[in-house]
This record gives sequence, structure tokens and C-alpha cells, in this order.
Amino acid sequence: MRRSADELNKMRKAGKVVAEMHEATRAAIRPGVTTGQLNEVAAAVIAKRGARSNFLNYHGFPAVICTSPNDMIVHGIPGEYVLREGDIISVDCGAIVEGYHGDAAYTAGVGEISDLAARLIEVTERSMWAGIEQLHKGNRLHEVGRAVQSVAEAAGFSVVREYVGHAIGTAMHESPQVPNYWPGSPGPTLKEGMVFAVEPMVNAGSYETYVLDDGWGVMTRDGQLSAHFEHTIAVTDDGPEVFTLA
Ligand code: MG
Ligand code: MG
Repeated sequence: MRRSADELNKMRKAGKVVAEMHEATRAAIRPGVTTGQLNEVAAAVIAKRGARSNFLNYHGFPAVICTSPNDMIVHGIPGEYVLREGDIISVDCGAIVEGYHGDAAYTAGVGEISDLAARLIEVTERSMWAGIEQLHKGNRLHEVGRAVQSVAEAAGFSVVREYVGHAIGTAMHESPQVPNYWPGSPGPTLKEGMVFAVEPMVNAGSYETYVLDDGWGVMTRDGQLSAHFEHTIAVTDDGPEVFTLA
């Protein structure tokens, strides 16, 4: 779907709130802090900006952010988990302003982290930017996944298959999906006004996953680390415009 100039303006506003949630939670990450406390920090930003949460009550999800440490890939429920020196933590944030959605995620280290963890974070973020660079009108959507996969696999990592990016607008998850790998076909042709969430999930080991008994937390099957980066981006006449940057 293509969004009007007025709709894109509302999505810019939602994106700014999400960017502020990133800044505030990043600043709160340190050993000893719980993921529940990060959720409170994010909820305070939503309240301060008069926005609404798109995560809270989404299929019953009980928080305004997802917090996924170490071998958890995505969808972790914030709570009692205490961040420890050497952890990595993926934080996924979203907000609604005037009916329009923003959605973005990052992975950060807690204190000193291993070389492998640092490299995984760096490569995952770089793979996201390689995907975003494909969002030019006239290009085909699945070039995003091809670019993401190429960066991740060149570094010896793997790209999660079961969870993907998505179009976004008046709902958080709209069609079409945005795979983070080449799915075997080029996909739709990009037009100005389309808006997507590009969100690679990159595993240090294999891409296989399983879901925790809570029905939410998605884990790497082999117990190795996973990282996740995401932005909400519009296809414009001047190229990709990232709405969820500070
Ligand atoms: Mg998303
Ligand atoms: Mg997200």
C-alpha cells in the first residue's frame, strides 16, 4: 500500500517516539537492571509523548517493548531477568501516533562483551543497512533479503527464516512480508509511499528456532547468540527515508 504525504507525516511522528524509546532504554542498560525496568523506561516515553503502545495487548503481549537476551532471538517478555556483564540484549520498541505505527529494534552489549558478541551485533546492524539501501522505487522488495543475507552469511552467521520484516502503516504488521533472505522470487516492485519495517534477526550459529513455553520468547535451537536490528523506512522519490532514527 502507498501512503499519502499526510500519512507519512504521521508515521514520521510515530517514528520519532520509537527513536526516543531507543535512546531512553539504551541509556538505562547496565548490569543489575531488569528487563522489566527497561519496559518502564519505554512506557514513560510513550506516556510523555501522548502516544499509544502497539505492543501492549498485541495477541495478549503484556508489555510495551520486547526484551530478548543472548540466545533469545525476539519477542521476549520484560520482567525479572537481571542484565549481567557480558550479556547482549535485543530491545524491540513500537508506538502509535494519530493511528500510525512505528517499529524499530536494536541489540546492545551489557558492559564488556565477547569479541563474537560484538561482531554479531556489528554485522547484524550492517546487514539491516544493506537491506534498507535496497528500498528505492523501481527495485524489487526481495532484494532487501538478498542484501541482508549476503552480509550476514559472508560473516559466517545465519539469518532467521521463520520471522521476517513487514509493511507497516495503520497496523504494525501489514502485507507484504519482508524476508531477510532470498525467497526464490523478486517480490513486488517498490513504489514511492510504501513503508516497511526491515528487521534482520541474525544468529551466530544455525538459523533454527524454538518458542518458549510462555508462547512468546523465540530462542536459537543451538543456544548460540542472536542479534536483531530494525527500522521503519519509507520509499520516497529521493530514496529510503528512515522514520525511526533519532
Ligand atoms: Mg517489526
Ligand atoms: Mg519490532
